Amino acid sequence: MTAIGIFGGTFDPIHVGHLRTATELLEQLGLAEVRFVPCRVPPHDKSPTASAEVRLCMLHAALDDVPGFIIDERELRRAGPSYSVDTVESMRSEFPDRPLAWIVGMDAFATLATWHRWEDLLGLTHIIVVHRPGADVPGTGALGALLDERRVHDAAELDRSPAGGILLHAVTQLDVSSTDIRDMIGRGVSPRYLVTEPVVDIIAATGCYDHKERAIR
Ligand code: ATP
Repeated sequence: MTAIGIFGGTFDPIHVGHLRTATELLEQLGLAEVRFVPCRVPPHDKSPTASAEVRLCMLHAALDDVPGFIIDERELRRAGPSYSVDTVESMRSEFPDRPLAWIVGMDAFATLATWHRWEDLLGLTHIIVVHRPGADVPGTGALGALLDERRVHDAAELDRSPAGGILLHAVTQLDVSSTDIRDMIGRGVSPRYLVTEPVVDIIAATGCYDHKERAIR
């Protein structure tokens, strides 16, 4: 497969839900690579808790030795809100004919119709939607109609055109979120095994979620 997977997120912090999802997509769909794109300022959510530098440092600690995983800093370098459509446009100019596949959890896909210029996205990229605990496939409304129109059922179809299809793909369901991890750390509970060990070390060393560094070990 030649499609490039693009995994946008706040990664505040990167956790096993992200890592397992990207691993399964890389292997099961045979993506050429998965690019993790940390956002600078999320368009919808409140500002990230950890600084961009620390989030990037955690991404490097979790991903650097993993074949097929790449960190793409273009949103961190771009001023203003990190709109996905701007990111995909910039990747499209770099890879004019290559299949691109934006990776998104079902919870985030459910909000797609609120994204900046969301109608332009499928002209630029495919979308791979992964199941996530607590989030259902939209059956009605704008997204239900979009799925009826654009859904593909075979990953091989993503390689037949550069953009335009939506693939729903089941990954191992891990009920882990960055919000829960930050809350745990705030309560002095260890995040160990929900994030990789080097990420635990960075959280402890920087105190990015809690200044009680020793309490989380
Ligand atoms: P937060 O709790 O702060 O909103 P998050 O855990 O959802 O964070 P993000 O960095 O916002 O993490 O997510 C980036 C992308 O990864 C989103 O598309 C999201 O749906 C997806 N994602 C996050 N956690 C999981 C998970 N456990 N399983 C599958 N997809 C996930």
